[in-house]
Amino acid sequence: MQMDRDLLYRLIEAAVGTVDSHWQELTALDQAIGDGDHGAGMKRGFDAVMADADKLAEQPLPATLTAIGRTLVMSMGGASGPLYGTFFMELGKSLDAAPDRAALNAGFTRALAAVAARGKSEPGQKTMLDVLAPVSAALDAGADAGTVARVAHDAAEATVPMLALRGRAAFLGERSVGHMDPGARSSSLIIGAVCAVLEE
Ligand code: ADP
Ligand code: MG
Ligand code: MG
Repeated sequence: MQMDRDLLYRLIEAAVGTVDSHWQELTALDQAIGDGDHGAGMKRGFDAVMADADKLAEQPLPATLTAIGRTLVMSMGGASGPLYGTFFMELGKSLDAAPDRAALNAGFTRALAAVAARGKSEPGQKTMLDVLAPVSAALDAGADAGTVARVAHDAAEATVPMLALRGRAAFLGERSVGHMDPGARSSSLIIGAVCAVLEE
């Protein structure tokens, strides 16, 4: 994939844009089964990324991704800050400047594994992994951008009936059932926004 400055900038802008237009929804989701800070944390983190977008987009893809991860770790806080940070930093470590589709799939798989290791978690526990894992599988299966976006969206919806076994929501036990996981939703939003740009 040709990762020129313009495409990188548009990808960053799209990711930040979807967080900025949905952060209140993320707040409401986290108010239901967490402590209500996921929307504000995501907005703070992604607004910090946007503040550096010009500089970020000028670097080679691995440096851009690593810097995004570092910014998220420093600015987001909560459980999700280090996890999102890990995802982007590992992706930055795994990809070269012009990854082909196979490299992208492999990089996504490694980033997913790094998040799982960091969170001591696995898919099926009502977390962001329940979006990242099916997206990784769809990528490996050769899905196009539109399909990947739909998989991500449906996977977030599919966390509604799940019982939370990790993160704050796990303290609620059965009361976590019936609500979408905030981190799964934010992951689906970002993946959807990135896919929409790649589909253009
Ligand atoms: P906090 O719970 O510390 O307030 P956030 O509200 O920012 O953090 O993020 C909560 C989200 O983080 C959850 O909805 C879930 O998707 C994700 N999460 C929390 N703990 C884990 C974990 N151990 N592994 C994977 N994801 C997790
Ligand atoms: Mg929270
Ligand atoms: Mg918190």
